[in-house]
Amino acid sequence: MTVTLDELPIRDDLRGQKPYGAPQAPLPVALNVNENTHPVPAEVADDIADAVAQALRNVNRYPDREFTELRQGFAQYLGHGLDESRIWAGNGSNEVLQHVLQAFAGPGRSAFGFEPTYSMYRLLTRGVGSEWIGGTRGHDYTIDPEDAARQVAEARPDVVFLCAPNNPTGTPLSLDVVEAVYDATDGIVVVDEAYQEFAPHESPSALTLLGGRPRLAVSRTMSKAFAFAGARVGYLAADPVLIDALRLVRLPYHLSALTQAAATAALRHSGTMLRMVDEIVVQRDRMSATLEALGYRAYESWTNFVLFGGVSDPAATWQALYDRGVLIRDIGIPGHLRVTAGTEEETTAFLEALAELGRR
Ligand code: PMP
Repeated sequence: MTVTLDELPIRDDLRGQKPYGAPQAPLPVALNVNENTHPVPAEVADDIADAVAQALRNVNRYPDREFTELRQGFAQYLGHGLDESRIWAGNGSNEVLQHVLQAFAGPGRSAFGFEPTYSMYRLLTRGVGSEWIGGTRGHDYTIDPEDAARQVAEARPDVVFLCAPNNPTGTPLSLDVVEAVYDATDGIVVVDEAYQEFAPHESPSALTLLGGRPRLAVSRTMSKAFAFAGARVGYLAADPVLIDALRLVRLPYHLSALTQAAATAALRHSGTMLRMVDEIVVQRDRMSATLEALGYRAYESWTNFVLFGGVSDPAATWQALYDRGVLIRDIGIPGHLRVTAGTEEETTAFLEALAELGRR
């Protein structure tokens, strides 16, 4: 007997919802989900493999539930005087954000973000039974501090997500916005710095604002700059008391011994792991310049991807690129598409395929 989803006793608030579903197609040039297209360098991969092999010998036991060594590694990597009491981690920053929502949102509560922004905020919010409130951005997708504070004060959310720089637009976010939003709410403010390593080196992180702000959390991921998307490791820095709240909702032993070993080993090589970031930034800027030369509008990006406008039929352009072996992302903004900066060859393949299509 087959049933439809609607016939199952599913939660009413999940009826009609769509799961996260960026297409995963085996195309030669995959520039659709903002991965790091450079593999982990061989010498680092060898060291990680040794660490994982070692951890396997004890895999009959549950892992360190507090993943202390890994938290120490993140604290050291982030700097800013952090120690392990201020660090949390999960299987991807998505899980870390889910922990924040489980602890601070939930049924009858709400979370807020300035749209367009990372689509998982809305899904994660609904997943914990909370209401999602979408705020608005100004011209060019920027956020003005006073306007942001006004919108947040009006919405009175329990959790605010500030994506800095923003996905899917690439837009930088000034720390004035973080300060203004923090002062405008009694809720938790999460600054999602998934792409911070791709921002100009001198641009300050929201980590500089943590002191004296116990409701502020700054999340990061190893998926992008560290080329570690397949390992699923994200983390967060915040006041130790906020971290204690996350302990209430995590599953026991949520980070496997293999994940902990792999991430700890990778962090020991952060210099090498991050070597490719500057090269990706070069490709991103070449992409933006060439898109402009082709007559499109490339938005300023501090990430590893570029949002471009002036596309008359995004679905048709997306399909034509797909047919040429290039996978990019139609993020549903009319007239726009998003593309991840690839290796030099992948970036060239995308730009040449697009040029071949002619402006459409
Ligand atoms: N935040 C932002 C802004 C993202 O773009 C992504 C991934 N696309 C994530 C968080 C989640 O990444 P992960 O779960 O791989 O750490």
